[in-house]
Amino acid sequence: MFSKKHSNSTNAINAINAINAINAINAINAKNATNAINAIHFLKTLLKLYNIFMITVKERSGKVHYVEGPREVRAILRRLNILENTVLVVKGNELLTPDRMVEDGATIELIPVISGGMKCRVCNETAVIGIPRHNAAFCKGHFKEFFKKQVLRAIKEHSMFKRDDRVLVCVSGGKDSLVLWDVLTELGYHTEGLYIDLGIEGYSEKSKEMALKSAERLKRRLIIRDFSKECGPIKDVARRGGRTDCSACGTVKRHYFNKVALEGGFDVVATGHNLDDEASRLLGNLLRWQWEYLGRITPVLEESEGLRKKVKPLCRLTEHEIATYAFLRGIEYIVDECPMSKGSTSLLYKEALNRIELKSPGTKHYFYQEYLRSAVKRLSGTVAFSTRRCSICGMPTSEEVCSFCRLTERFSKVS
Ligand code: SF4
Ligand code: ZN
Ligand code: ZN
Repeated sequence: MFSKKHSNSTNAINAINAINAINAINAINAKNATNAINAIHFLKTLLKLYNIFMITVKERSGKVHYVEGPREVRAILRRLNILENTVLVVKGNELLTPDRMVEDGATIELIPVISGGMKCRVCNETAVIGIPRHNAAFCKGHFKEFFKKQVLRAIKEHSMFKRDDRVLVCVSGGKDSLVLWDVLTELGYHTEGLYIDLGIEGYSEKSKEMALKSAERLKRRLIIRDFSKECGPIKDVARRGGRTDCSACGTVKRHYFNKVALEGGFDVVATGHNLDDEASRLLGNLLRWQWEYLGRITPVLEESEGLRKKVKPLCRLTEHEIATYAFLRGIEYIVDECPMSKGSTSLLYKEALNRIELKSPGTKHYFYQEYLRSAVKRLSGTVAFSTRRCSICGMPTSEEVCSFCRLTERFSKVS
């Protein structure tokens, strides 16, 4: 891999390049076979040195890599130290499978993966995705069917909501929440979106735009609550409240999810947490034996006094599958990670689980499903429920003032 050179190369460098190139061409003209071969080699090396005639690999985050080609997709990913099942490789509008050869000079884009060389389990057409934990592969159409079935199965298995329930889908502008909104709407559920503007510089604006685009496409209402206008950017609020960014963000989101659901008469709040989120959270809590959180890693948090029911219909699907579904459905989403997620331990746990999954397909799914089947009941006694009401906002809390009001009361007049 070569690092990207800055486009503002000096004129001097350009002049040297031109002289070298002319010398090389002269050598070819000299009809000296050896010289000509050397000259071609030299020209190629020169072009490669300046990243011309290389494979350009673009990440959605804006990162660009240059890899010497021609090379198989699989080898490119290996070279970049990227796991095959964590990205989708796209060239123009075409999805590339790991065995595809990429020529020098081509540009490919990494989103989240696709595996190939397989046939659809249902119709025997070329598969666009392999799902090793089910020992299956699917074509575009049958993958979409598989995806919807998994969502319906989660909804039914965990009694998440009924046909006529009003579902408030919490959308962040990322793939998980926008896919969730899309698939629930496709399945005929009554959905509305909720977007909370947290005032994250260089991120919130873009993510809101994606949420609005989805609302327009789905022809559904998007409720927007502007926390940053009410209380200031989340970063400042977290700092003043002596909390980490993500912990403050979690408190704010939980507060608004519940508040908007209660005010709007929604039956249930749905979030886009997926199998990777849940399994990595489970692993993180197990590694630290955080008993108080362990019993709460469930696809459903039942309704209680003042708290709306919360559900995670994507809990049977991986990030890879969700990203593939988003791509196949043409759902636009913000690919950049939240800038405040840098260094988060959950990313480390996700990577660890992905590495295990690669060697032992199905482990991630088994780890989480077995926890739900046999361990979670034993842990339910460790979960503490809020029995009081916050003296400021009236939301359930275990203390006099809820954590949202403690976080915001010093700088906000809004409850
Ligand atoms: Fe909030 Fe942290 Fe997620 Fe960013 S990474 S959206 S701050 S929880
Ligand atoms: Zn098929
Ligand atoms: Zn409160």
